[in-house]
Amino acid sequence: MKPNKLLIGLAVAMAASVGLYLLMNARCYQLIGKLVCHGANDHKRIALTFDDAPSESTSDAVLAVLAEKNVKATFFMIGENMARHPQAAQRIAAAGHELGNHSYSHRRFLLRSPAFIAREIEDTNTLIRAAGYHGPIHFRPPYGKKLLGLPWYLARHHITTVMWDSEPARQQPPSAEAITAAALAQAHNGAIILLHPFCLDACRAEREALPHIIDGLRAQGYTLTTVSELLK
Ligand SMILES: [Zn+2]
Repeated sequence: MKPNKLLIGLAVAMAASVGLYLLMNARCYQLIGKLVCHGANDHKRIALTFDDAPSESTSDAVLAVLAEKNVKATFFMIGENMARHPQAAQRIAAAGHELGNHSYSHRRFLLRSPAFIAREIEDTNTLIRAAGYHGPIHFRPPYGKKLLGLPWYLARHHITTVMWDSEPARQQPPSAEAITAAALAQAHNGAIILLHPFCLDACRAEREALPHIIDGLRAQGYTLTTVSELLK
């Protein structure tokens, strides 16, 4: 191959790789099926969403804050965690929150077989129903990553991909004050906020920020809803 053809070939391969990378990580786009990263902007409503639920030791602290503040939120459940802590999952459902599917094993859905994708989604849905939840089940991909196989499966089963457009703990100092300030600065009509409040020490600041985020959003006039309510 001539050197200039080689260079063109390399440039095309690099552009394709960059394109695939952007597609796989896109917050508000996937090739097929329904994806949302926020709700309509005509109402002052915001959905709080929590990933990687449940946890035996920390979900109850989050439930207590939500109960005290009278807020319904959306918990994206990991199948493995529910299998390990079924009662923690039942307590989330019993408190009237929305439960979403966040995969069984929390591995990336890239270059996976159809059987892997089906198992990860269906086994987790089965556990969500076993926890006593009867509402709609949306899906949030682990690490937000999706290419073709996952959206194709979700589209065939009429499952909506729910991403987010506010992640206040990202690139913030790990303090409740900084996370709260970021959440309030990013607030807008229809926002879907992502928090990770369940891991023990690394997520402590997100747990501590939660009541302040709720109070601050309400002071700005927002109503807090589940994802399904936000999308109505
Ligand atoms: Zn996750």
